[in-house]
Amino acid sequence: MSEIAANLATVQAAIAQAATAAGRQAADVTLIAVSKGHPADAVREAYAAGQRDFGENYVQEWQEKAAQLADLPDLRWHFLGHLQRNKIRLVIGKVALLHSADDMAGIDEMQRAAWSGNLKQEVLLQINLADEAQKRGCGEDDAELFLDVLLRSPNLRLRGLMTLPPLDEDPETTRQWFKRLRTLRDRLLGQLRGKPGAPTSLWLSMGMSGDYPVAIAEGATHVRVGTAIFGARAPKIR
Ligand SMILES: *Cc1c(COP(=O)(O)O)cnc(C)c1O
Repeated sequence: MSEIAANLATVQAAIAQAATAAGRQAADVTLIAVSKGHPADAVREAYAAGQRDFGENYVQEWQEKAAQLADLPDLRWHFLGHLQRNKIRLVIGKVALLHSADDMAGIDEMQRAAWSGNLKQEVLLQINLADEAQKRGCGEDDAELFLDVLLRSPNLRLRGLMTLPPLDEDPETTRQWFKRLRTLRDRLLGQLRGKPGAPTSLWLSMGMSGDYPVAIAEGATHVRVGTAIFGARAPKIR
């Protein structure tokens, strides 16, 4: 077995264990293998081991890899990084899920790009829970307003929330942020009830290599795991 296949098996087992411990099904958690900073061959190896969902952060790197992997038809790409306005058109309609709807101007441009290409795009609203200056996403208090804008964007389909909480070595410290995203999700679902076209469930994309079991315990439906599957990245690519 290759090292990547072995790592994948370890992560899958940990996901199953965390899900079971939380009274959930492993199948309710989607593992996204975050391949940024790793070559297309590494993605191919994970694919050969059965992995289908992959995450990337940078448009050019993703485009190059996607072109090299175009022969893998059921591979699903997730876009995780901030999209500059002028790059939005390159991604819309080409990824299974865009995790980073993170500001009004960007959402407006996403809708425009999807409309002009006659495309639909599934998106997650990114939430900046700790109001960190260096991070993207809307604040908790603005989430309802953002949700309304997304629901009025006919070519975007809102599927849930995503967060990238403050980094901490101790996943138990991070747990509070995962709880907060879940609480926010539950509150928003309550506010959406009865609105035309509103979703009746919302996904939670949260948890990375250091803390995905805790995120699953707190309700994550999508975990984004890079290092634990592919190994360390070159230092400048976070
Ligand atoms: C890089 C990245 C990940 C994966 O991080 P690891 O610690 O390598 O698992 C997850 N989510 C986002 C948004 C990222 O940028």
